[in-house]
Amino acid sequence: MKPRWLTVLVLACTLCVCHRAAAQAPANAQATKTRNVILVVSDGLRWQEIFRGAEPALMNKAAGAHDPAALDREFGGSTPQARREKLFPFLWGRVARSGQIFGDADHGAQARVTNGKNFSYPGYNELFTGYPDPRIDSNDKVMNPNVTVFEWLANQPGFEGRVGAYGSWNVFPYILARERAKLRVVAGWEPSPEAEPTPGEAALGAVITSIHRTWSDCGYDALTYQLAREYLARRRPRVLFIGLGETDEDAHEGRYDHYLHAAKRADDALAQLWDWVQATPEYQDRTTLLVTADHGRGDAPVEWKSHGANVKGSERIWLAAIGPDTPALGARAGVEITQSQIAATMAALLGHDYRAFAPRADQPIRDLIAGAQHKSPAKQSPQPAP
Ligand SMILES: [Zn+2]
Repeated sequence: MKPRWLTVLVLACTLCVCHRAAAQAPANAQATKTRNVILVVSDGLRWQEIFRGAEPALMNKAAGAHDPAALDREFGGSTPQARREKLFPFLWGRVARSGQIFGDADHGAQARVTNGKNFSYPGYNELFTGYPDPRIDSNDKVMNPNVTVFEWLANQPGFEGRVGAYGSWNVFPYILARERAKLRVVAGWEPSPEAEPTPGEAALGAVITSIHRTWSDCGYDALTYQLAREYLARRRPRVLFIGLGETDEDAHEGRYDHYLHAAKRADDALAQLWDWVQATPEYQDRTTLLVTADHGRGDAPVEWKSHGANVKGSERIWLAAIGPDTPALGARAGVEITQSQIAATMAALLGHDYRAFAPRADQPIRDLIAGAQHKSPAKQSPQPAP
């Protein structure tokens, strides 16, 4: 039998080790695997195309398609499933298999904006802050009075200098309050702000200054996307926003063919982005990708071109998510989410409680975060949507 003092000593050492281990655990130890979040928005891309693919009633000259037969060969199909897989092979191939897609109103799953305005600045504000703000009632270049989840995260330990946003629309510097937030925001026809650009950034800059500009307030998505990729590879942000704008521009112009091609290019860009993420050790299996829209649009045959408070159905959006914390539940049915939940969801995936800072923000979508589903279920739709 050991002397009693030895037992006391062993016990004391054991306690000492436990105490030290506890003291060394980081204060913000997180249960999630996500260390990086990438949010991509395709401006005004409808839930109808996401879930039903190209709409047969719009693949014609009346909806601006110059070569309906070619468009049908490219995106046509006898079922919504066949059409959507042609238009969005990444979303319906990889995300639907390994992640989740919300907003299928044909199956009682609604995703909607809550700001009542159904246009861009109010939508991006709701998306980035987690709540609608009635003061934001135009797309004017007015500095956002609200602190976004991007600005807030950029001030959290481990995120300093590692939050960035690249967007085609030239209002993003105001929505994200670039001057106040001191965020990396590059938007519209701006070239890379790097003092010593990479060869890729320099080449893109040369294109930006010399190319024809179809829209004065919206740069080309290919340039926005490639600049974002250069930034991602070089600066390794932990939170990145990529804002694509051509889907909205093409729809306003009443060109359904251009709109579909812009949507397909967005899907191609997502596939390439995800390939890079999963081939890069710092990001592989540690990154969640969220893809959504800032607002919806109206229905065929005319109102699909526009959106707003008076355009029926333009409050309906969608959300796709793939990442290490997101259970593979595929296309969701009978579950409702709102745009106002996405900001807190981004923070929660990163192990942060955004609502402790912004109590007005809506709760995270817990179905997207393994282990959190049962704490607070997503809102259940009482009945399928009409
Ligand atoms: Zn628009």
